[in-house]
Amino acid sequence: MTYIQPTEEQRLAVEGFRKFLHGEIKPIAREYADRFIPKDKMREITQAIAEFGMPGAAVPVEYGGLGLGFVTQAMLFEELVTVSVDIGLCVMINNGAAEHLSHAPDHIREKYLPGVLAGKLFGSFAISEPDVGSNVADIKTRAVREGDHFIVNGEKTWITNGHYSDFVICTARTGEKALSHILIDREEHGYESRNIEKIALNSQSTAQLFFTDARVPVANLLGGEGEGLKNTMKTFERARCHVGLLSVGLMRAALEESIAYSKERKQFGKVIAAHQLIAAKIAEMATLTDAARLLCFRALSLIDAGVRCDLQSSMAKWFATEAGVKVCRMAVQLHGGNGLTKEFSVERLAREAIVIPIPDGTTEIQKLIIARGLTGIPAFV
Ligand SMILES: Cc1cc2nc3c(=O)[nH]c(=O)nc-3n(C[C@H](O)[C@H](O)[C@H](O)COP(=O)(O)OP(=O)(O)OC[C@H]3O[C@@H](n4cnc5c(N)ncnc54)[C@H](O)[C@@H]3O)c2cc1C
Repeated sequence: MTYIQPTEEQRLAVEGFRKFLHGEIKPIAREYADRFIPKDKMREITQAIAEFGMPGAAVPVEYGGLGLGFVTQAMLFEELVTVSVDIGLCVMINNGAAEHLSHAPDHIREKYLPGVLAGKLFGSFAISEPDVGSNVADIKTRAVREGDHFIVNGEKTWITNGHYSDFVICTARTGEKALSHILIDREEHGYESRNIEKIALNSQSTAQLFFTDARVPVANLLGGEGEGLKNTMKTFERARCHVGLLSVGLMRAALEESIAYSKERKQFGKVIAAHQLIAAKIAEMATLTDAARLLCFRALSLIDAGVRCDLQSSMAKWFATEAGVKVCRMAVQLHGGNGLTKEFSVERLAREAIVIPIPDGTTEIQKLIIARGLTGIPAFV
C-alpha cells in the first residue's frame, strides 16, 4: 500500500520538494497573503514547481510527463498545499489540465501540453454558471454548430485560474440533451475574465468568464460530442481527491502551528500543552488529518489501479474538507485571542478551510453520491 508507506524514491522526491517549498515558495506565499499574485509572478512560481514534476507527475512519459501516477503526484501536492493552498489550487487545475490534454487529439495535445508541463501555460475548467452550480446537467452556455466551427455564447463563474487562463476546457451545450467539452483559446477565439473577491484564497484567481460569439473549430472538441457530462463526472472523481488534499494541507499547517504554540504559551503555571483538554485537541486534530489523508490516498490509489471510485472520492472530499473546517477552527480556539489576529496564520487557515467544502460538489452533493452508490436509489431527481 504505497499511500501508507512511501518508497525510498517517493520519500526522496518529497523531501527535496519540501526543502524547495520552504526555501523558495513559503516567503512568496507570506508576501502575497490575501493579495492577488499577478500572472507573471504566478508563472514564475509554476515554472519553478514544474522542475519538481508538477503538473507532469501523472502524465505518461510518452507525452512528456514522468508517468509516476496519481499517488506519487499527490504526495508532492500535499507538501505544496501545506505551504500554500492558493498556489496549490492553481497547480491543481494545471495538473488536471495536463491530465486532460494527455487524452486529447494529437493536434491539441501537441499544441498545449508542453506549455502546461513547463508551467508556462494556464488552463481552467469552466462548468459552473450563475444559475448552474450543483446541477451540472442544466448548463446553459451554448455552442452552436456553423460549418466546421462552434459559436460559443454564455457566462461561467467561480472558475479557478480563470483570470490567468490561456485556454479553458469549457463544458457547453452542443444539442438539446448534449453537453460537450470544447477547448477555447483566450487569444485565438476570445473570452473575457473578471476576478471574484472571496472570504479567503484571494492570492490566486477565481473568476467569471464571458463568451460572446467565440468562434471555435469543431476540431477543438475534447472527448467526443455529447460526452461532456460523462467526462465531467470522471474529472470530478479525480479532482475531488485533490480538493480533499487541499484541506489536508490546511490541517497539517494548523496542527504544526498549534503544537508549537501549545508548547510556548503558559497559563496556570505551565505550558498549555500540559493541560489535558489542550492535549485532547491536538490528538483529535492529528487523527482527523491522518484519516482525511488516508481517504484521499485510498481513492487515488484506486485511480492508479484503473478502478472507478466515485464513491470513495466523494467520501474523501466531504470528510477531508469538513474535517479541515473543524481542525482549523480548533487551531484558532487553541490560540485564544491571538488566534484571531493577523500575526498568527491560523485565522487565515480557518478562513481558507471554510471555502474548500464548496468547489467540485458541496458536502451535501458528496453525501448524495455516496448514498446513491450504496442504496442504488437515484439522488438527483
Ligand atoms: C473556490 C472555488 C473554486 C471553484 N472552482 C471552480 C472551477 O474551477 N470550475 C467550475 O466550473 N466551478 C468551480 N467552482 C464552483 C463550484 O463547483 C460550485 O460553487 C459548487 O458546485 C456549488 O454550486 P453553487 O455555488 O451554485 O451552489 P448551489 O448549487 O446553488 O447550492 C446551494 C446550497 O444548496 C445545496 N444543494 C444544492 N442541491 C442540493 C440537493 N439536491 N440536495 C441538498 N442540498 C443541495 C448545496 O449543497 C449548497 O449548500 C468553484 C467554487 C469555489 C468556491
